[in-house]
Amino acid sequence: MPDVFTKAKRSEVMSLIRSHGNAATELRLVKLMREHRITGWRRQVALIAHPSTAGRIKVRPDFVFRRERTAVFVDGCYWHGCPRHYRRPKSNRKFWDAKIERNQTRDRHVTLALRKAGWKVLRIWECALTQKRQTGTLARLQRSLGRVPAAS
Ligand SMILES: [Zn+2]
Repeated sequence: MPDVFTKAKRSEVMSLIRSHGNAATELRLVKLMREHRITGWRRQVALIAHPSTAGRIKVRPDFVFRRERTAVFVDGCYWHGCPRHYRRPKSNRKFWDAKIERNQTRDRHVTLALRKAGWKVLRIWECALTQKRQTGTLARLQRSLGRVPAAS
C-alpha cells in the first residue's frame, strides 16, 4: 500500500479492513440475536477501559449491551488463533506466529481492561456460530446477559 495516509487515517483504514474481515461472522450473530429477540445491543460503540498499565484505552467491542454492561467480541478462528481451527501456514511461520500471538495478547489485554472497568466480556469464536453450535452459544450469551431464554 503506498504511503498516502497520515498515521491516524491509516489506523482508521486498517481498523475498517479488520472489522470488514469479521463482518460475515458478526452478521451471523446479528441474525441469531434477531431470531431470538435479543435486543438492547449496539455495534461499534467505543468504550474507555483501564488497562493495568498506565492510561486509558479506547476499545470497540463488536457488540455492546450497555444496560447489562456486557461487551461481546466475535473472534475469527484464524486471526485470533482458535485452538480448534488455527492452522499454521506452511510459509512465513515466524511472521504468522508472531502476528497471531500479538492478536491474542491484545485480546487478553482488552478483556482484562474492560473487566477492570466493570464490564462483563464475552468472546465468541467464529466457529461457535455454526448451525450446529449456535444453540449453545445463544444460551451462553443469554446467561451472561442474565436473561431467561425465550420459549419458542
Ligand atoms: Zn474455531
